[in-house]
Amino acid sequence: MRAVMQAEPLGLHLVFDRAEALFADRSVVTREPDGLTTSTFGAVFERARGLAALLAGLGLAPGDPVGTFGWNTAGHLAAYIAVPGSGLVLHTINIRLSADEIAYTVGHARDRVVLVDGTLWNTWARVDPPDCVEHVLVYGPAPELPGRHGKAVVVRLGELPVAARKPWYRPEDEHEASGICYTSGTTGKPKAVVYSHRSVYLHALTLCGADTFAISHHDVVLPVVPMFHANSWNLPYAALLAGAGLAFPAAATDPASLAECIEATGATFSAAVPTVWSNLVTAVRAGEVGEAALSSLRRVVIGGSAASETLLTQLSGLGIEPVHAWGMTECSPVGLVAGPPVGGGGEDYRTSQGRPMPGLATKVGADGELRISGPYVVAAYHQPDTAGTEEKFTDEDGRRWLRTGDVATVDARGYVRLVDRTKDLVKSGGEWISSVDLENHLLAHPAVREAAVIAVPDPKWDERPLAVVATSAEVEAARLREFLLTRVPKWQVADRFEFVEEVPKTSVGKLDKKLLRGRYA
Ligand code: ADP
Repeated sequence: MRAVMQAEPLGLHLVFDRAEALFADRSVVTREPDGLTTSTFGAVFERARGLAALLAGLGLAPGDPVGTFGWNTAGHLAAYIAVPGSGLVLHTINIRLSADEIAYTVGHARDRVVLVDGTLWNTWARVDPPDCVEHVLVYGPAPELPGRHGKAVVVRLGELPVAARKPWYRPEDEHEASGICYTSGTTGKPKAVVYSHRSVYLHALTLCGADTFAISHHDVVLPVVPMFHANSWNLPYAALLAGAGLAFPAAATDPASLAECIEATGATFSAAVPTVWSNLVTAVRAGEVGEAALSSLRRVVIGGSAASETLLTQLSGLGIEPVHAWGMTECSPVGLVAGPPVGGGGEDYRTSQGRPMPGLATKVGADGELRISGPYVVAAYHQPDTAGTEEKFTDEDGRRWLRTGDVATVDARGYVRLVDRTKDLVKSGGEWISSVDLENHLLAHPAVREAAVIAVPDPKWDERPLAVVATSAEVEAARLREFLLTRVPKWQVADRFEFVEEVPKTSVGKLDKKLLRGRYA
């Protein structure tokens, strides 16, 4: 039987039309170089219309990729709207990659235009833009600009043209591309994931679910996770869809600036990698940030790396509900959320990576690797030029599955617990040691601020764990070893400790274990 329902494509036009019609007065606050400035959805949409008119004037046609190179700001949000809202494909370039890697992703995506945040001009100027880039459009405050960059014409966007109100692009086919994100390339070259209107819409809608992120019209969302890291976990589109106010920190994600932004905007919801939250908690405990400044904050999502029990407890202690989530660029990106089970049943769910988001299925293979499947999970990489990318997928039970590269276990209630990334596990004498687990135990020590555990070659055991730690007080390796002995079996205790000021991070703020292996292994 054929359904008789309307076949309106699922697309971002549905989000934009509704946000403009209903939420024009919702606020959008951005940290500018001279302080916080307040704007509205209505003004951002006007700006997006001007930008859309300008892009059309450059002769871009639906399906053409447009890069963005910016911090989390209202200007970047205008590009998030104007680009897919014109049928173009939004490529959010990771500004923290090396100049060569940036040029690689721009060339691989074939960006015809790149929109550059003026405060990042000097970073962008180091990139040798590939020939596909015809125009570089610079928005916001910028230094003196050259007329050309490579073959591209450089244009400063001042006042944008006042554009006639025309409908936002409605995809004929909801599977049309709306955006491209590159994985951060922890192994090999960054891989391209092309999102569709449908996948972005479904994922944004799912983030508004009461048992996921519960983003609603009554929230003010503060996306700390960068707009160049898996689309800021899709928070901008979820906030537009819900009509939630937005607060953008730009580059200022240090505890004092974040606290100021939270207090000024009444932010209720935020999301970031664990380091951001542990820095904030540390600053509160040290009296550098007043606890009262955070009083509006109800829920924060922690993801990208494992959240330790210590961090979850500290955030709860501040009256903030921590929500642990797991994701990958490949899953739009949120795949698992650790909400509480019905009837309580212990607190251990909090440290798990959570249960699959609505619409997704997970399973753990015989090899222990987590697989994930669903309408906003990637089915193949775009123009893969890294060997072995096809092996990341399997077709089983009539579905397409992505192999996540994460080793996990699942409990009877469906909570997934990540053991480790396959490549980060320490294989000692035929047994596995979870680096994540050891890190969490180390973080429970009052003097340990940051911990990263890596495998180093060992003649007897193949591999042994080495712990790289940053501490807030003087502590000897022997004390840390004793501490671990009270928590894990003796054979799992790290043999070597390296003390550092700060553990090096990747372009998206995760512990950089590749670099650490190069340094210590
Ligand atoms: P990349 O894959 O390029 O490093 P992603 O940001 O997409 O960039 O990273 C995805 C990976 O991050 C996951 O496969 C997982 O290993 C790790 N990860 C994400 N969230 C969590 C979490 N809550 N706990 C532990 N690991 C996580």
